[in-house]
Amino acid sequence: MALFAKLRDRLKGVREKWSGGIAKLFSGKTFSGDFWDELEEKLIAGDTGLDFTEEITEYLKREAKTRKLKTPEELKGIFTAKITEELNAVPGMGKGFSLDSTPLVLLMIGVNGSGKTTSAGKLAMMYKNQGKSVIMAAADTFRAAAVDQLKIWGERSGVRVIAQGQGSDPAAVAFDSWKAAESSRADVLIVDTAGRLHDKHNLMEELRKIHRILLREAGEARLETVLVLDAVLGQNSVAQAETFSSIIPVTSIILTKYDNTSKGGVVISIARKLHVPVRYIGLGEGAEDLNTFNPEEFASALMNG
Ligand code: GDP
Ligand code: MG
Repeated sequence: MALFAKLRDRLKGVREKWSGGIAKLFSGKTFSGDFWDELEEKLIAGDTGLDFTEEITEYLKREAKTRKLKTPEELKGIFTAKITEELNAVPGMGKGFSLDSTPLVLLMIGVNGSGKTTSAGKLAMMYKNQGKSVIMAAADTFRAAAVDQLKIWGERSGVRVIAQGQGSDPAAVAFDSWKAAESSRADVLIVDTAGRLHDKHNLMEELRKIHRILLREAGEARLETVLVLDAVLGQNSVAQAETFSSIIPVTSIILTKYDNTSKGGVVISIARKLHVPVRYIGLGEGAEDLNTFNPEEFASALMNG
């Protein structure tokens, strides 16, 4: 219960900006003429996606009719169950990374500002607190500040950071860090990368090369390509995901800034369009603000006012 309460509290922003309106709609005493239109509007405004909005509205209408429901309140449980089912349809959704084969390599990718470095730092802290041995690699060598930012997270969590000078080859940093992780028998290696989209062609080549080397060294079972997406961008983050997926296979997603978004339904769009599990959601800038994403808990936290 404590965890649930914490999640509810952190989801306050999303509730105020999005799901609160839906919860309110469902607390109505009658199915007024506007109920279905308003529901559709709110689902679309939250970036759940057009397909999902149409599907779930039709489904709820049918359920209300066949079960002869009198109030929207009676539909609430059916609604949250459907959202949970939709999210759980993606294997691995809401589950942390598997540590069956180590060193597990988490290759963090995504556009500038999406929260890669912060998420890398949060993950390092999380694993460290679980007693795991962790190494981070500063493969965003484009800006000196990026390396420094990762080093600060390293100091905070007591995690070693492998870095070379600014402008060095990111793939070489990734390779060195793998060797260090392998020889020290680390449990987790977290590789931070650059995300400068204005230089898209070079960036994609660079990521491809890093990925190729890590795949060759670590093997598929030990490599997770983690796409970091900014929930504030809503559906646009899905488009970004498609761009990255066309370059390297994305195996997991971390959805950041969920505390700040009004597009709370984006997680449903991601599940449906990408079929890649959302492992964690970012609910703030602090080291502890990374939560596993439990679909059931999430759906109830959102909808229960
Ligand atoms: P990067 O360019 O992808 O490495 O992004 P950064 O990790 O530098 O993050 C960009 C900004 O987003 C920073 O100010 C972070 O503190 C902030 N940020 C990252 N994750 C979250 C989150 O879950 N919630 C909030 N509110 N801010 C976040
Ligand atoms: Mg960064």
